[in-house]
Amino acid sequence: MTKSKKVLISGASIAGPTLAFWLARADFKVTVIERSDALRLGGQNIDITGPAQKVVRKMGIESDIRAAHTGEVGLQFVGSDNQPKASFPKNKALTWTQELEIIRGDLVQILYDSTKKDVTYHFGDWIEELKQHSDQVNVTFNSGKKETFDLVILAEGIRSSTRELVFGKEPVFDYVGLYMAYLTIPREKSDNKWWRWYTAVKSRVLMLRPDNHGTMRASVAFLEAEKGYEKLSPEEQKNLLKAKLKGAGWEADRISKALDTSEDAYLDKVGQIKAPRWSDGRIAMIGDAAYCPTPLTGKGTTLAIVGAYLLAGELARHENHEDAFAAYEKRMRPYVEEVQKLPPGIPWIVYPKTSVGVSVLNTFVGIFASRPVQKLVSLFTPKTKEKSKQEIVLPNFKWHNLKAEDHHK
Ligand SMILES: Cc1cc2nc3c(=O)[nH]c(=O)nc-3n(C[C@H](O)[C@H](O)[C@H](O)COP(=O)(O)OP(=O)(O)OC[C@H]3O[C@@H](n4cnc5c(N)ncnc54)[C@H](O)[C@@H]3O)c2cc1C
Repeated sequence: MTKSKKVLISGASIAGPTLAFWLARADFKVTVIERSDALRLGGQNIDITGPAQKVVRKMGIESDIRAAHTGEVGLQFVGSDNQPKASFPKNKALTWTQELEIIRGDLVQILYDSTKKDVTYHFGDWIEELKQHSDQVNVTFNSGKKETFDLVILAEGIRSSTRELVFGKEPVFDYVGLYMAYLTIPREKSDNKWWRWYTAVKSRVLMLRPDNHGTMRASVAFLEAEKGYEKLSPEEQKNLLKAKLKGAGWEADRISKALDTSEDAYLDKVGQIKAPRWSDGRIAMIGDAAYCPTPLTGKGTTLAIVGAYLLAGELARHENHEDAFAAYEKRMRPYVEEVQKLPPGIPWIVYPKTSVGVSVLNTFVGIFASRPVQKLVSLFTPKTKEKSKQEIVLPNFKWHNLKAEDHHK
């Protein structure tokens, strides 16, 4: 029925290749275009939780993801002397380290490897112009190439540029008042397998997390009104971060020093994408481009994977693309709205200004991490299976091309 539909997906990160995987299973002819010259393998720890875990299991890549686990054993809040104030080990009722915790680039590579045989990838090119007609979309690429597709799906992340060509100023970037910087730094003997979280005065948080590549992933976050820091040059951003790290204590000097030689240091403002609609005619959006929830929720990757699965499934079972887009949005939007609700006081509560605020916060996390509280919470925490059922229902779509063994996953 939908056999020869030609689909262009723009963006080869998480959402794009996941969608490509499932559309190829439904016999669509899929092209993925990526602006960068190669896969972008940067980034830090990301989580695959609840319904997204079900999707990657269905895709047959759960074991590859498990094999690439970062090795992190849990989260510790530490003081300036590096002594733990509170510990939240993996697999406890109150935990932040997930069962499927992977470095972003490793996941991008796994998704690419699992689709490259069935999907055409083009790197180093992007959409310059889109013209929609009743039966097709004419696309002009930056390379000058022109091609016609039945559908175009934008999976270009939070800074999607094609989004504006289609939806104008409709989608908004909702700034949450926080800047975050990430960089990879050399591992030292004193490092361990804990994710260490250090709260400094003046609303700053520094973190160090182990990876499975022999290095450490550092991050620096601070509360501040919107200042346009994300537009500074890499050198200016490094200088700004060094100024922010000054006098922060703990491992601040080490992170500051690592900035001098870092090749992947990256600073951005943190915000959510809120779009009143996710499709227009033959064009739709998925992942961060449509509904980035911020890293504060730990659910950006989960939303990208689940959204891609649902959109592919609806396209596979509806002859009319507009019906499919409407069905995808009807299923997905309530889930997105739930995820985008930040708990009251987040992020301000965890970024105290004064040393008194820092001690109050550390006392609170100590209470939460204590055995009686963990025990109490575990009594009220549903098992993973029930939890994912509550988050969103994933239909068992019929895929024409599903391999026999995949039916049992
Ligand atoms: C380099 C990088 C590092 C990241 N690091 C982290 C991290 O440490 N922690 C975290 O929580 N999240 C991180 N993220 C975001 C995270 O990947 C997403 O929140 C989430 O997984 C949803 O993925 P997505 O596929 O929707 O978007 P993204 O992962 O943002 O991917 C979008 C893709 O589209 C490409 N693209 C953008 N514009 C165009 C265009 N016009 N034409 C063609 N291609 C385009 C980008 O190059 C990118 O490959 C990072 C993203 C990137 C790109």
